[in-house]
Amino acid sequence: MKFISTRGQAPSLSFEDVILAGLASDGGLYVPEALPEFSPATIASWAGLSYQELAFEVMQPFVDGALSNTELKTIIDKAYADFRHPAIAPLVQTGHNEWVLELFQGPTLAFKDFALQFLGHLLDFVLTRRQQKVAVLGATSGDTGSAAIEGCRRCENIDIFILHPHQRVSEVQRRQMTTVLADNVFNIAVEGNFDDCQNAVKASFRDQSFLPDGRQLVAVNSINWARIMAQIVYYFYAALALGAPHRPVSFSVPTGNFGDIFAGYLAKQMGLPVQQLIIATNANDILHRCIANNDHSKQALQHSLSPSMDIMVSSNFERLLFDLYGRDGAQIRRLMQEFEDGTMHLAESALTSARSLFSSFRLDDARTLEIIKDVYTRGEYLLDPHTAIGVAAARAERWHQAHPMVCLATAHPAKFPDAITQALAEKQSEPSLPLHMQDLFDREERYQVLPNDLVQIQSFVRSTLS
Ligand SMILES: *Cc1c(COP(=O)(O)O)cnc(C)c1O
Repeated sequence: MKFISTRGQAPSLSFEDVILAGLASDGGLYVPEALPEFSPATIASWAGLSYQELAFEVMQPFVDGALSNTELKTIIDKAYADFRHPAIAPLVQTGHNEWVLELFQGPTLAFKDFALQFLGHLLDFVLTRRQQKVAVLGATSGDTGSAAIEGCRRCENIDIFILHPHQRVSEVQRRQMTTVLADNVFNIAVEGNFDDCQNAVKASFRDQSFLPDGRQLVAVNSINWARIMAQIVYYFYAALALGAPHRPVSFSVPTGNFGDIFAGYLAKQMGLPVQQLIIATNANDILHRCIANNDHSKQALQHSLSPSMDIMVSSNFERLLFDLYGRDGAQIRRLMQEFEDGTMHLAESALTSARSLFSSFRLDDARTLEIIKDVYTRGEYLLDPHTAIGVAAARAERWHQAHPMVCLATAHPAKFPDAITQALAEKQSEPSLPLHMQDLFDREERYQVLPNDLVQIQSFVRSTLS
């Protein structure tokens, strides 16, 4: 399968090249030239498959030719071996025909493990075959860093460098990164904010001449195609468990960079009967404003109780726009150029299609706390603040009670003890970490504090590469 850029001017790439590529050279994002489509009979024949077996069926058409069936199966088995629940993505009922899909059973307790465990093993396999070593470089304000480190810690051909803003991530989040003492894992605490970290990463990708010959950087942020692909699987898994393809299923998705819900859109394009897809946002609501009022404009970042959704611009939205504009790269180039001034307006036809595909909803912090409390009080199910926004969105925007509604639970509540304590007030103390992490606060940490200075960051990377 070939992959093409949303801006139409970069060369098309093979699967193997696209997972190493990051952004396209024309500034666009890579998408498959054509999607595989599955008939209702094919989907029906998957009923009862294990998560890993289903992952193989859904992803095989994308990697056809790049990996043999046995190779893909081995990578999938390794990727999900460290999940704590035998179902990998269990469903829990939280209301009438309403379900939570627990995507936090992986090693770092957030849904990002689904994609990053897979991507780590996939990269390592491909790099071994090419006899190549790379450096993964990324910036994190929380979840992505630990999930990326967990995904890469056992990869022989990858050194991973994760920048986080010094003293500005929560202690659970920092310790999840800094207590991984593997030889190829390097945490850098930058004396600056998240934007400073991100700017250092972007500058390093633009000009990689600071690296020794033969080394390249690889991005594992949510624009990496393999991450999107791995996320399509759990939409099929949940829908099959709830009666698809014979009855349609709806999903509500706590959204930041639009990677997770874009995977749901792809599942629908590939033949899964998805009735409703709800974009659930916090106060950083650019996507909700876009769907509701055609107002896709940058606003100042607000720090919320759901920090993993605190984004100004959702980068994966460009992949949807590409489809809404008839896959015309020239139109996307024009649109993204317009957006450089901070705002873009969708054409009427694109907006109409977007509204037929997605509902949207925004929830502020005060109401996030209310829904956490309400769901806990009535059903004793504890939602993390991100998932809570998805559940509130599902309840507010749902069209039909007759079809199952699945709310994606993107993080374990123990990752956000402050919000939970605030929501439940006197009712309950902090949620406890799962067993395998209960000694997190006693573990040894290792990280390097560096000034917010590109030269020093890059010389640290160069001098520590294996
Ligand atoms: C990353 C993240 C999100 C947002 O996912 P996107 O793919 O960026 O839309 C939501 N919740 C949690 C807990 C996350 O870590």
